[in-house]
Amino acid sequence: MIQSEHQRRAYLEALGIDVWLPRASADPQPEVIAADLQSQGMDWATLRETVAACTRCRLHEGRTQTVFGVGNPGADWMIIGEAPGAEEDRRGEPFVGRAGKLLDEMLRAVGQDRDAVFIANILKCRPPNNRDPKPDESNECRGYLERQIELVRPRIILAVGRIAAQLLLDTDSPVGRLRGRRHQLGNTPLVVTYHPAYLLRSPAQKRKAWDDLCLARRVVAEAAA
Ligand code: URA
Repeated sequence: MIQSEHQRRAYLEALGIDVWLPRASADPQPEVIAADLQSQGMDWATLRETVAACTRCRLHEGRTQTVFGVGNPGADWMIIGEAPGAEEDRRGEPFVGRAGKLLDEMLRAVGQDRDAVFIANILKCRPPNNRDPKPDESNECRGYLERQIELVRPRIILAVGRIAAQLLLDTDSPVGRLRGRRHQLGNTPLVVTYHPAYLLRSPAQKRKAWDDLCLARRVVAEAAA
């Protein structure tokens, strides 16, 4: 089936419209539409509804709700973390636990309120026992995040923590080697820093995280100049 037909069906399904096909033209195999294809071109409302109804991987079985992302849809800064934890799963909002409070403080220190930025995660559902995302889970979810990035069009992406940095940059380098410099994700500059949960355990690294935030602020200022 050509891609546009995939897309047409994904849209109709996202709108809650049943798609009936004559038997002869129905695919013999159950269809798997890549999430990046499925979410292509969606507006915020459709994307949000599609994520809320998503059953693309097994994480949907254990979630209380999806955690779509929060903040200013036209933000200059987009913060990308790993996945919802227990508190985020309960409240439906990313970074609301202890690590989230620290993230808020870090952002405020560079003049960015939580409401001014857009915060999202690689995964929209909580992995059990806060384990790392599995490759199939991050692959299935990736298209949603890509569409969020397209819609926000941030001036800077701040990838917080190893999982977000490695998945976004498609590398297995450690955060210590990725942080402290500017990367590109397509046309968008990206800076890596430590995850606030790690900073709670290793406060001595806060100085480096501060340097990363200052770098991100400089990148935004240079782009605006
Ligand atoms: N850690 C993350 O990476 N994301 C959250 O939303 C919460 C904790």
